[in-house]
Amino acid sequence: MNDPVRQRDCAPPDGDLPILTAVVIGAGFSGIGAAIKLIERGVEDFVVLERSDDVGGTWRDNVYPGVACDVPSILYSYSFAPYSWSKVYAEGAEIQRYITDVVTKWDVRRFIRFGTNVLSLSYDERGGHWDIAAGGRTYRAKNVIASYGPLANASLPDIQGIDAFEGVLMHSARWDGSFDFEGKSVAVIGTGSTAVQLIPELVRRAGKVTVYQRTPGWILPRHNVTVPATINKIFRKVPPAQRLTRAALFRATETSALGLVWNTAVTSAIAAAGRRYLRSQVQDDWLRRRLTPDYRPGCKRMLVSDEYLAALQADNCELVSWPIARIGASGVMTCEGIEHRADVIVCATGYEVTKAGPPIEITGRDGRSLNEEWARGAFAYKSVSVAGYPNLYFTFGPNAGPGHTSALMYMEAQIDYAVELISLTRSRSLRSLEVTPEAQAEYNRWLQERLTRSTWNSGGCRSWYLTEDGFNSTMFPGFATTYRKILKNVDLHDYVAYGDLAHTFAGSAPT
Ligand code: NAP
Repeated sequence: MNDPVRQRDCAPPDGDLPILTAVVIGAGFSGIGAAIKLIERGVEDFVVLERSDDVGGTWRDNVYPGVACDVPSILYSYSFAPYSWSKVYAEGAEIQRYITDVVTKWDVRRFIRFGTNVLSLSYDERGGHWDIAAGGRTYRAKNVIASYGPLANASLPDIQGIDAFEGVLMHSARWDGSFDFEGKSVAVIGTGSTAVQLIPELVRRAGKVTVYQRTPGWILPRHNVTVPATINKIFRKVPPAQRLTRAALFRATETSALGLVWNTAVTSAIAAAGRRYLRSQVQDDWLRRRLTPDYRPGCKRMLVSDEYLAALQADNCELVSWPIARIGASGVMTCEGIEHRADVIVCATGYEVTKAGPPIEITGRDGRSLNEEWARGAFAYKSVSVAGYPNLYFTFGPNAGPGHTSALMYMEAQIDYAVELISLTRSRSLRSLEVTPEAQAEYNRWLQERLTRSTWNSGGCRSWYLTEDGFNSTMFPGFATTYRKILKNVDLHDYVAYGDLAHTFAGSAPT
């Protein structure tokens, strides 16, 4: 067992910059959650750096028609901020209103510096602080919570000739709400979670919609319904009723992990349900065949939609499953040699996911570079801490994602963990806390061994969850309950603490 506290050269910080307790990067769900938890712990000297001009992250950016949550909203909300959702699966605008309301209620806005793009983080070992280059200046903080989100940077497909297209090119996450689709010929590239929400709306608006599918997804109905006003009234008057409903839904989604996370007989049952649903919706044998996946459910994110399959069969919609050869000035050329003319190309092609390196430059202790260390796949300890990078905490870090329930269930555990460590650093006047390489390696051995049995690694598909080499650095192989248990207590014996004063940690859970 390592001695958790060591003495270090305690040189005073250089320069005149004030040293904040924390800098939080990003004002999406996790950055705002982290800010609230810091405020609740009495921390007032921190800032949230947000590159955009509003809060909300992915829900601020995604304003494409049909944008909505594909997990029940009662689970897609902070445990400490219940809400009267109008539908079981809320639309994007309502989710954005929710997060704005939360920001107002907890008075978080005063801590946010909008229009402040973070370019780099660099750890100053002598001073025991991070220098954060952002918005043309430097912020200095003892701790950093990196909440930039895994789905922040939209990714255009790498298709030959895409720059030569003379029509309108749009990405679903950079939507031009002023564009009039009426009568237009629209090409949609991609058939993932975003596309199944967007395509039915485009089919309603546009003259013709051609959908380019590379890989079909497993689809189940969503059964979205309006939440009756009386139910919301009961939830407001009797808050435990809402908490119980949330707990029951959480358990239901947790059960689905048996088939969506693990490749089991339950996975086969989900496949059977998917095939049944497809048969009930699509009578045309050839179309049904093209829409039937050849990999296990869960390997890619499950799609839920009540409208997508009907939209594909509308008179003004066509599914093209030939691979795209290239894009030309006036449309999309597929491999069988047909050129499909288009006025607009909509790319629902996902994001540059941060699985192989952070999107900003991060330099840790001894000048080490996280960008280099993560170049072939990101890894961390419990997804939150990384050896060599003291006092730096990630939300939605490596292997923090769920395939079966709300991401917020994981995110809140990460925030609580990070804020606990920051509070500990403050209360014990520590210079830094850093996870040991041994603890990190052991955690990752356990994680990667479990991942081999997951649907993501063994389900027979390629997804954004894996790097080019097939390394899974995005998903947590287990129940959310397991993950939350792992993060519930901080095991300080897995950390090295450097302090100005000698400390010893008697137990694993700091008080
Ligand atoms: P995605 O799941 O990465 O899907 C991208 C789609 O584009 C796939 O169908 C992919 O095909 C296709 N594609 C990518 N490059 C292509 C190319 N060069 N040529 C042809 N097709 C190409 O992206 P997304 O649908 O935006 O979803 C991303 C994530 O956002 C989801 O997994 C989910 O976590 C999140 N999301 C959540 C919600 C929600 O309601 N909570 C809603 C939307 C999105 P392949 O399958 O063959 O790669």
